[in-house]
Amino acid sequence: MLNRKMLSCRVAERRKGLPPMLGFTRLRRPLLALSVLWSSAQALGESSDMTMDDPRLARTVTERPFEVVIDRRACGTRGVYVQVLGAGADDLTDAQASSGYLVWVDGKARVLIDMGAGSALRFEESGADFKDLYAVGLSQLHAEHSADLPAFLQGAAKLRRKEDLPLFGPASGEKTLGLKTWTSRLLGPNGAYPHLADYFSPFSQGGFEVLQEEIESANRRPWRGFRRDGIALSAVATDHGQGTSLAWRVDVEDVGITFTGDTGNRRQTVKTLAEGSTIIVGHHAVPENVRGYARDEHMPPSQLAKIAEEANANLLILSHRTPRTRGRELQTRREISSVFKGAVLFANDMECWEP
Ligand SMILES: [Zn+2]
Repeated sequence: MLNRKMLSCRVAERRKGLPPMLGFTRLRRPLLALSVLWSSAQALGESSDMTMDDPRLARTVTERPFEVVIDRRACGTRGVYVQVLGAGADDLTDAQASSGYLVWVDGKARVLIDMGAGSALRFEESGADFKDLYAVGLSQLHAEHSADLPAFLQGAAKLRRKEDLPLFGPASGEKTLGLKTWTSRLLGPNGAYPHLADYFSPFSQGGFEVLQEEIESANRRPWRGFRRDGIALSAVATDHGQGTSLAWRVDVEDVGITFTGDTGNRRQTVKTLAEGSTIIVGHHAVPENVRGYARDEHMPPSQLAKIAEEANANLLILSHRTPRTRGRELQTRREISSVFKGAVLFANDMECWEP
């Protein structure tokens, strides 16, 4: 089991060969942590193996508590990073892509969680190579989590990917489609994009087959069905209003990153999956005082904080932000800090964080 002491040792070891300010240590003052991470990102951009012409250096808008600044940042080429491709939800007013996250390992994007609207463009901006992906996990099939799958496959036709691509998603629920029915309706021979149906055939002419697997929605026990080169994927079904969703976790050696997805977490299934995670990426769609149906669909900040604290995480990244939660960052930070003692960050598209 990963504990805080082990984490600090690992960070200390990693720091030996890196420039000052690289790495991340759990800090009790989140604002200080933010400034350390800010400096870390700048240091990464200035590291010797990356020039300012590197395509992975994307121009982004990043929010600080009292100002908005423009910066260039990217993931480093050594170690494990989580990059936010889409920090928004489904709003058309926030200039943020919908849900999408990359896990980078030693300079290669290996796992993509969610393919929400806009994530394909952000994937390009990140400098990631579609051929490097080991697997894709979808948390649910609403457009803000899945709409760019056709765009990714259409674009992949020109990339000469040779390896089959595992695609994981939810099984059908009482009120929701399962992954295979959904892809069949969208991308099957009689679907909306029949020219992409070939990717789901073992005789695919596109160079690779999309290998679909549905994760059972009723099971409280985490699914742990994928492992490759030290990268493990696990997931657990969660409740999302009257529908279902999946929380995902990516483990790379001693780093665990849990993505809560959209969930009210009434059944408390996220806790089991998140245990011992280094980073929690929490979907922050509703404020603390939310009531009624929205509370069944999303967790308020105090619940996200509880998951992060019980997981013993270092960092809570708040993503899937909405107009209901934007503008309340200081209040939210206070609410979270009374429960979770690690660092808290409000995500924006393209930001990249190291545990
Ligand atoms: Zn959502």
